[in-house]
Amino acid sequence: MECIRMIAPRQLKFVNEEEPVLYGDEQALVNVAYTGICGGDMHPYLGESLSAKYGNIHGHEFTGTILDIRSNKRKDIRVGDKVVINPAIPCGKCTKCNQGLGYICEDCKVIGGELPGSLCKKIVVPVRSLHKLSEDTSLLDGVLIEPLAFAEHCTAGLDGQTIVILGQGPIGISCTMVAKHKKCKVIAVDIVEGQLEVSKKVGSDFTINSRVADPVASIKKIIDENGIDSIIDTVANSWSIDFSMQILNKGGIITFVGIPCEIIKVDFLKLVCREISIKTRYLYTDKEFSQAVNYVDKGIIDVTPLISGVFPFEKAQEAFEFKAENACMKVVIHNDG
Ligand SMILES: [Zn+2]
Ligand SMILES: [Zn+2]
Repeated sequence: MECIRMIAPRQLKFVNEEEPVLYGDEQALVNVAYTGICGGDMHPYLGESLSAKYGNIHGHEFTGTILDIRSNKRKDIRVGDKVVINPAIPCGKCTKCNQGLGYICEDCKVIGGELPGSLCKKIVVPVRSLHKLSEDTSLLDGVLIEPLAFAEHCTAGLDGQTIVILGQGPIGISCTMVAKHKKCKVIAVDIVEGQLEVSKKVGSDFTINSRVADPVASIKKIIDENGIDSIIDTVANSWSIDFSMQILNKGGIITFVGIPCEIIKVDFLKLVCREISIKTRYLYTDKEFSQAVNYVDKGIIDVTPLISGVFPFEKAQEAFEFKAENACMKVVIHNDG
């Protein structure tokens, strides 16, 4: 079976590996259809990751169809069904897992992270990670469910608030979409006009190009006397933290959701004196993943503005290069075999 390994910055290698088969109960063999390229895949590709390990098979945002299944627990899923996979695989036994908090289980492993990912033709996954897609949901749209699940987690508890979302790449836009569904007023900040155009299309109330206008002054002009209590930071660098501290009310919260590519310097004196908290986000609960499936299955959120390009499996390197060279939304790799 063909797989793609990232062997060095800007180098993908197609390799032939053993055909995967079910080796235990409560497993399914999935014919991979689409894999989305994530920022988490791009950082090592561009050689800018702080923790890159090379030689792995990437891909954690993916859909496919069931080729084989061995399960007593998932009678709802059959061969031929369209599925999306929650790539976070917690142990399922510890206290956190029992509380439904598998995303912070100490033994949680991620497909496409610690475990081999979906940049291959077929993959074996535990049946508990399967989410069935409705007949009407396309496998392409389904690939945007994982970013929406993350956005669901990032926006938890923010319903109805006025929030600033820093960065309008795929994660920022996903957060904007989910926040609008949660009746937030969204002020979106980015430096790329094209991303801000998408942001407007998906409903952000104000967009600010921080290269063109001073973002602090612009935001202060927009907000009322209640100010801003919450910022979602997808930019994740020293500038963005400092910027957030200038905008937030005392007691405000920075929801820090980007993967930093630098050791970030934080002026803790400012943070402490204003009692500002930094909350980080990395994964999501399975319930949040189900909610994201619901958004797409029921047509509550239209994910088409999130897709910038689809490349065939054989052209995966071109897909990564396209993403590297263009400030764009999600680039997706399609396996039609
Ligand atoms: Zn991702
Ligand atoms: Zn656990």
